[in-house]
Amino acid sequence: MDLAAVFAFLIEHPSTTQLALFAIIMISMWSIEHAVLAKSLRAKWRHTLFNALFIAPALPIQIVMMMLCAALAHWVEEHHWGVVQLLPNADNPFIRYGVMFVVLDFLDYLYHFSMHQVPGFWRFHLVHHTDEALDVSTTVREHPGETLIRNAFLMLWVLLTGASLEVLFLRQAVETAVNILSHTSFRLPPRPARILGWLFITPNLHQTHHHFERPATNCNFGDVFSIWDRLFGTFLELAAEDTVYGLDTHMAAEQARTIWPWNVAPLPGAVPSSLFDRVLITSETAPTVPSA
Ligand SMILES: [Zn+2]
Repeated sequence: MDLAAVFAFLIEHPSTTQLALFAIIMISMWSIEHAVLAKSLRAKWRHTLFNALFIAPALPIQIVMMMLCAALAHWVEEHHWGVVQLLPNADNPFIRYGVMFVVLDFLDYLYHFSMHQVPGFWRFHLVHHTDEALDVSTTVREHPGETLIRNAFLMLWVLLTGASLEVLFLRQAVETAVNILSHTSFRLPPRPARILGWLFITPNLHQTHHHFERPATNCNFGDVFSIWDRLFGTFLELAAEDTVYGLDTHMAAEQARTIWPWNVAPLPGAVPSSLFDRVLITSETAPTVPSA
């Protein structure tokens, strides 16, 4: 099989490829979770179907934004736009793929950090955090407003960096796989978790991010690499027995369920603003939870 031809075909259809990859990994991991871990099929289905409701309003936005992002990456490359063009040997594969992949991952860390720290963004992102039973279906629990913001940030990163469609495609494929895997109910045993966690965001680290209260909620913002969290002091490991999923402001199941994709309407006045008054990480709120 001519791998170059396969890659060329896939990259000519980036939106379809990314959605197909997303669906294949999601369904595979859901089935494995169910086969290995599910104690109650009924409860897992109920949880999955509720989270699946978020797909309907978000999918059209995702498709349109992906097409716009691909068009922008084409434009950026044709016009030699972006910071990458300032580097010597910008076309060197090491820079074009390796360096740009790492830079885009850092920018995704900044994006996720901003979603937690900017009150206007947190209003949308908290919907993802209100899930009280983490599994792969939590991956699609995203307010459509966040879908818009996430893709707008990605377009901004493409415009700033000059990322090519190829590296964008590569990065989105890896990011999709890591993002779905990090939302699974599985945990790695302590030793492999520690070794992999030196460099990568593992399910264990992302589960810590879904702990119901700060400082854990404001830790492990990384997408593929965990190095940014280590560098900027937002790295934290919580043991499974110390991890409780959900969000302290929305812990009652009935309250969490009112977060429907079409009525959460995180507009000023739609809910008491105190729910969203989340403070930034400060020295007073620095991680105090014991490490695993
Ligand atoms: Zn988050």
